[in-house]
Amino acid sequence: MSLHVHKYGGTSVGTTEKIQNVAKKLVACKKANGDQLVVVVSAMSGETNRMTELAKQMQATPSAKQMDVLLSTGEQVTIALLCMALEELGQEAVSYTGGQVKIITDEAHGKARIEEIITDNIQADLAAGRIVVVAGFQGVTKSGAITTLGRGGSDTTAVALAAALKADECRIYTDVDGVYTTDPRVEPKARRLSKITFEEMLEMASLGSKILQIRSVEFAGKYNVPLRVLSTFDDGDGTLITYEDDDMEKALISGIAFNRDEAKVTLEGVPDMPGVAAAILKPISDANIEIDMIVQNIAEDKTTDFTFTVHRNEYPKTMQILQNICQELGAKKVTGDDKIVKVSIVGVGMRSHAGIASQMFSALADEGINIRMISTSEIKISVVVDEKYLELAVRTLHESFGLSVE
Ligand code: ASP
Ligand code: MG
Repeated sequence: MSLHVHKYGGTSVGTTEKIQNVAKKLVACKKANGDQLVVVVSAMSGETNRMTELAKQMQATPSAKQMDVLLSTGEQVTIALLCMALEELGQEAVSYTGGQVKIITDEAHGKARIEEIITDNIQADLAAGRIVVVAGFQGVTKSGAITTLGRGGSDTTAVALAAALKADECRIYTDVDGVYTTDPRVEPKARRLSKITFEEMLEMASLGSKILQIRSVEFAGKYNVPLRVLSTFDDGDGTLITYEDDDMEKALISGIAFNRDEAKVTLEGVPDMPGVAAAILKPISDANIEIDMIVQNIAEDKTTDFTFTVHRNEYPKTMQILQNICQELGAKKVTGDDKIVKVSIVGVGMRSHAGIASQMFSALADEGINIRMISTSEIKISVVVDEKYLELAVRTLHESFGLSVE
């Protein structure tokens, strides 16, 4: 008998009817395979946002602690409704909030990390043939305060439970039928991948493919939990996220990721001497602005140009901070552009093949797309291009690396 953890996201449990459908699916699954089932659910779609709006009407910046008390109720509604639906089908079920399971987290309200999960009660329920329904996205501190794991955190609850219970598979049921080679809204020829590695998925996720919370993929990789993304609404095998193995598709590149929310800033004519990069970036990180790519030019006249990218929302603030630094450092001037995007090719196949970068750059050049910045990692090459080229760049690379459906 195998143990499966299923997770159903907000759109899968968005109405009472949909919750009833999930209940039917679970009962059918249990009948067919005799599997032990632990089910993690999100709040019904829109609920977390609705409550966040309510909070804003009370206080401009409510405390993270009270936000956790508020937002955790969304998932609590779903577990109760799903248990009712299961019982109505004659299936014994038991609901648990995060605190009731004892999903112990640290004290970081709003972005808590799971430290320990006590599985004794769940195991007893499973042995008694019950379906166990757990509220996603939440935990409890050692001293008993309710915490939440950050937006999209139910994915992480599911993976963490799967790891703690040594489940055979963790299935994330959602409104898409798997992980695609790229966003089908940009490239209609995109196709579903049957398998992808944890590492590749992390790169795809951090680059803006928002199917899974990034932390859940990290967790799955660390504890080697086979993770499958599949549709609640259609049949199909979805995409398995797992370790690299021999029968992984022999593609060089697994996918094309992109991120529209980018902006780049440059400090021109900075004196080229030790400590300058730190002096530029310290005030940026002090302002809690995350930096992505960094490029420093080779100095010709004892000065250098220093360029980096930030989230587009942070562009005005970053420009302002740089103006100050510019004066302090006696640099020439600050320039910037918030109409840029990042496009990346991702694939473990890149490790063992030379020439991938040049293939990428020639493909873009053939379409007259100018590359503004480049960065690489072991399994990813990213370029910054003008926003107007996003679609063209994605489709060109998708075609060039043979990812398109024939
Ligand atoms: N309900 C939470 C959110 O919308 C957690 C989740 O759905 O994973 O972020
Ligand atoms: Mg989600």
